[in-house]
Amino acid sequence: HRPDRSTVWIGEPGRQVPIGPETLTFIAGPCAVESAQQTLEAAQMARSAGAAILRGGAFKPRTSPYAFQGLGVKGLEILADVRVATGLPIVTEVVDARDVPVVAEYADMLQIGTRNMANFGLLQAAGESGKPVLLKRGMTATIEEWLMAAEYIAQRGNLDVVLCERGIRTFEPATRNTLDISAVPVVQAASHLPVIVDPSHAAGRRDLVLPLSRAAIAVGADGVIVDVHPQPEVALCDGPQALEGADLRELAQAVRRLPALV
Ligand code: PEP
Repeated sequence: HRPDRSTVWIGEPGRQVPIGPETLTFIAGPCAVESAQQTLEAAQMARSAGAAILRGGAFKPRTSPYAFQGLGVKGLEILADVRVATGLPIVTEVVDARDVPVVAEYADMLQIGTRNMANFGLLQAAGESGKPVLLKRGMTATIEEWLMAAEYIAQRGNLDVVLCERGIRTFEPATRNTLDISAVPVVQAASHLPVIVDPSHAAGRRDLVLPLSRAAIAVGADGVIVDVHPQPEVALCDGPQALEGADLRELAQAVRRLPALV
């Protein structure tokens, strides 16, 4: 524990979840909110695996404009219902500065994705939202550029920023992105902000989510965020990286066991 490192608190006063140096925060949920039933089932899976925060995209920034773009405000409503049903606070992505007020109305934490890390108008709007922000690293961004993106949020008075390493573009095609595990200690040495790891979007493959989570925990990440889905084979978004069943239970054990070793 380094005393100069910050803790960011997520959720309603009185039942907030910390992300910071004292804890290892486990965030899980579907890549995309597809329906009320699928989101509730994914959230129940996440909660029984020990997740403290639910993830789930209502606005999806897809590489192809023809891919499922998310349910939008309807998806936010589903997330809010699932929060009531499970008690889990919600992190969800916002892709457009104009949507920040509506997403902030429903979400406990705003996510800014890799494709928008350098969307400065969006960062500034998130900085004025009054909600904590999960800032993913741009897939081609240096650590310096990522930290400067966080400054755009902080400059608007919002210091509740959590950084998320989610893999960067390299020449290696075996994984969708290359998880830059060294980014965790590099960021922790340079910044007071918590830093978590997304092994699901880094790898794009469920068989790598557990080993990469172990690596993230071992290197001192403040949390992990993973995709889960009740039926990955019919997922509308990123099914091949979603955990279910035995894989999720193994990850849950790893997340519980390893912090003592760090
Ligand atoms: C996500 O977490 O839903 C997502 C789209 O991630 P990224 O921005 O890292 O690709």
